[in-house]
Amino acid sequence: MARCPVCRARLGETPQCRRCGCDLTMAEACRQRAETCLRQALQLLGRGESAKACSLADEAISLDSGAVISKVAGFIRWWCDRNFRD
Ligand SMILES: [Zn+2]
Repeated sequence: MARCPVCRARLGETPQCRRCGCDLTMAEACRQRAETCLRQALQLLGRGESAKACSLADEAISLDSGAVISKVAGFIRWWCDRNFRD
């Protein structure tokens, strides 16, 4: 997370925004969990477990709707729809 989602200030090493004081601990935890979900989803795709992969992609988007997370999750859903019509 490079910028505060509230005031867009550049973030430092602490979980608190220096400009607005927002505590970003939970937001960072959600972002990390979303990344973990996507990594697991990609591994599941490799094993052909599309339903579980799509479920994890949905969970990732619910945790963090940032551009990178959304694009990777969108790719996972597209791949499942294209290759594994359950
Ligand atoms: Zn801020």
